Amino acid sequence: MFCYTPKVTLGDYVPKQTSLEDKFGGLPWGLPPERWPLCGECGEPLTFLAQFSSHPQRFSLGKEGRVLFLFSCQDDCSTFDREAGANAVVIVDRDDLVAGLTAAPPSFDESLMLAEARVVEWVQYEEPLPDEEKWKCYDRKAWAENEQALNRQIVHRTKLGGFPSWIHRVHSHPQGYFFAGQYLTGPDDFVQSEEIVNATDENNILRYLLRGIENGIGYLFINPDAVEPKGELIVDYY
Ligand SMILES: [Zn+2]
Repeated sequence: MFCYTPKVTLGDYVPKQTSLEDKFGGLPWGLPPERWPLCGECGEPLTFLAQFSSHPQRFSLGKEGRVLFLFSCQDDCSTFDREAGANAVVIVDRDDLVAGLTAAPPSFDESLMLAEARVVEWVQYEEPLPDEEKWKCYDRKAWAENEQALNRQIVHRTKLGGFPSWIHRVHSHPQGYFFAGQYLTGPDDFVQSEEIVNATDENNILRYLLRGIENGIGYLFINPDAVEPKGELIVDYY
């Protein structure tokens, strides 16, 4: 099975966004403003983490042109608890996208906004785990018994597709959902663009990339229903 890790560059290094792109941080592109989610726990607007367009190989959302937006609370709420509403996954059909960047709700604390990193390429990696072994990644007992062997075949970075790198426990997912990717924000968890690699201001770069999900992994599950697509993000911390 293949997975896809984003090669990113910082928004500061490229011209301003003029069309739909896969990206991390900054402001979302195309999100209807009324769909910016609030935290189920503290009630504040969530922080925008990333957006990805549906793609037949790496990220199928069940309908061409759909875009998925990921949000999480950066205010110590229970992002590890799928019931708490401290994360949100918003999936928008192409016809419902709006033009341009979406401003955050007025009550959003701008200091919680993440720096923008834009995806310039998706780099394909192979995860050689055979199809018949796949179930072991989603079974608590089988995972516990085979963790080391399974982990050797899994890419432990930010990615779409592939198999999850569990850090504490296996998360089951409701029927109709599949594991669609995972999100980490250490500097080694992305493929870095030449601009980033060559940048002299290393502290600044790390400050940008190390935010979002620090010391943890966000697991993304999607139900690509034709009429009512849904998603779930669960974040575990080390
Ligand atoms: Zn919150």
